[in-house]
Amino acid sequence: IQISSDTLKDHLKRTFGFSQFRGEQEAIIQNTLQGNNSFVLMPTGAGKSLCYQLPAIVMPGTAIVISPLIALMKNQVDQMIAFGVNAQFLNSSLTRAEINRVKNEVLSGDVKLLYIAPESLNKQENLSFLQQANISFVAIDEAHCISEWGHDFRPEYRKIRAIIESVDEKLPIIALTATATPKVQLDIQKTLNLEDAKVFKSSFNRKNLYYEIRSKKDIDKQLIRYIKAHTGKAGIIYCLSRKRVEEIADLLHVNGIKALPYHAGLDPAVRMANQESFLNEEVEVMVATIAFGMGIDKPDVRFVIHYDAPKSLEGYYQETGRAGRDGLDGTCILFYTYDDILKLDKFNKDKAFSEKENAKLLLAEMVYYANLGVCRRKQLLNYFGEYLAENCGFCDNCLHPTPTFKAEREVVLVLKA
Ligand code: ADP
Ligand code: MG
Repeated sequence: IQISSDTLKDHLKRTFGFSQFRGEQEAIIQNTLQGNNSFVLMPTGAGKSLCYQLPAIVMPGTAIVISPLIALMKNQVDQMIAFGVNAQFLNSSLTRAEINRVKNEVLSGDVKLLYIAPESLNKQENLSFLQQANISFVAIDEAHCISEWGHDFRPEYRKIRAIIESVDEKLPIIALTATATPKVQLDIQKTLNLEDAKVFKSSFNRKNLYYEIRSKKDIDKQLIRYIKAHTGKAGIIYCLSRKRVEEIADLLHVNGIKALPYHAGLDPAVRMANQESFLNEEVEVMVATIAFGMGIDKPDVRFVIHYDAPKSLEGYYQETGRAGRDGLDGTCILFYTYDDILKLDKFNKDKAFSEKENAKLLLAEMVYYANLGVCRRKQLLNYFGEYLAENCGFCDNCLHPTPTFKAEREVVLVLKA
């Protein structure tokens, strides 16, 4: 359909309260309105959701949004309803009666956005429901879940394209991801059969994020001091294990810091409640495993702290990306010790050879990153195939230059171990 730039801006203002599109948002929206396929690669916090939320509102019918997590769907549906848009979700958290209500609302044409989990999409009963519905287009959010090379592989994502085709092969598709590695990007495009899609790729440089590496010595003291110096600010602390998450949440608690744990071992109701408390600002700090955060839109997270080293720079980039989504400064601190790398390497010992080698390479990149005295942003972007000409001036290495140390030896060690 044909919609003028002014009309789109009008909707942007009226529904979302924003006066300007960011980056390529408008071009992406127009591409969907014209019935074309899009592949959108933008970093976390860039504003990908709007690229399908806005066309969903202006187009007749219901837009289908495929999304990997219940928490993520709920987060967005709540937001859309607060904006006065009828959005609903279909996933395993609903009762039979609720499912029927949602479906009836969709069939009567009242729903602008319907969020569906990929496993719900796969169900036969939902297939015939979708065939009856008036669908405007399909959005595939967190599209990297389709790739085994990504950091969040979901096998059910592999079936999406076939299902969309059996609903209506002419539906425009928009796939979105913050994945920065070229390998995953190609894999997504191939598997979703989106080779013909128009690609919108923006820089992955998050200029408002400050990157810093600290030694893990006296970490608990450092952690408490940092958080207390930033009282009233929201932050996430990522730990490797569930046990550690519980320990650190307790530690913060006894030190008078409002913190809650989040990991996949918690009862779903507790997990959901803790997430809500964090989003509603009842607690300031979320102590979590990487199970927390994908797609969660809390704009004012001011710091992301890694208590343990992550498995890859890709994961690190995604996790730190949750800071500063509102465009204001965010601080990303990684507490590093080589022992953590060795620990991570041990987890891989039972994996198949090629997988093990791949995991080792990812760890080696991590070791370089933690040890090199080079601008952190340069290193991160370089890893994602982007070249930054100047030092960023907004990372620890730029502001407090230190010599590169031990990196070579540690990299060799992890590769040989
Ligand atoms: P992504 O999915 O790319 O990680 P989101 O879609 O969650 O990012 O958006 C991140 C934040 O940016 C949200 O708080 C959103 O409301 C805000 N945002 C999106 N588009 C605009 C815009 N045009 N102007 C101002 N803020 C925007
Ligand atoms: Mg998103």
